[in-house]
Amino acid sequence: MTEVIIGRKGNQPFAITERTVSGKHLKATLLADGNIEIEDLDSTNGTYVDGQRIVKKVVSPDQMVLLGTVYQIRIGDAMGIAPQGSVASNPEEVSAFAKLQKVYEDYEAAKVKIQQENAKKQFLRSLPGVASTVLFALTFLLGDTVDSIKPFMGVIMITGIAISSWMAFKGQQTMPVKMEELNKKFMIDYVCPKCKNFLGFLPFENLKNRGACSYCKTEWK
Ligand SMILES: [Zn+2]
Repeated sequence: MTEVIIGRKGNQPFAITERTVSGKHLKATLLADGNIEIEDLDSTNGTYVDGQRIVKKVVSPDQMVLLGTVYQIRIGDAMGIAPQGSVASNPEEVSAFAKLQKVYEDYEAAKVKIQQENAKKQFLRSLPGVASTVLFALTFLLGDTVDSIKPFMGVIMITGIAISSWMAFKGQQTMPVKMEELNKKFMIDYVCPKCKNFLGFLPFENLKNRGACSYCKTEWK
């Protein structure tokens, strides 16, 4: 591939679901000399190379690029370019590499679980608000006929609103914290068996196809 749009709605050879990555985040173009020109497509959270926010830059295929706040990737992987000049590995390194499949699968499963939990919480969070609205409508509709229960309805409504606000506040706090902890753990576990550098948020299958570490060039086959 000579030009790839990278993002949640991009055409890179693997899916990106990380929310801090824009739909069309970055354009990568393969140059005649083997380097890659990257261009940020006005993304929401920016693109970073070695800690510097960039708009347009020429980098090597082995360069790690940060899209948004957490999603790090070796740019050559988005274009199907393998590291050059690989070094043979020993059987221990090969078996250590094979274990990364489970690390990636566990990470994906945990991520889906956090997202599902969040969806459930959002639904539960909406219930007190819905109940308050229904009660308000009832109070209005029943009018004078049920004067005696009106004060209680008011209390229930206010409680409902208070609970919704509290749940919304709590939900906002826990979701990113959990996700951040999961990402941090993944960045410690999903590393090259030899040089221990983080391999990026690349699915295991793609990593396996790439065949070697982009830092120490150790082959995994
Ligand atoms: Zn390595």
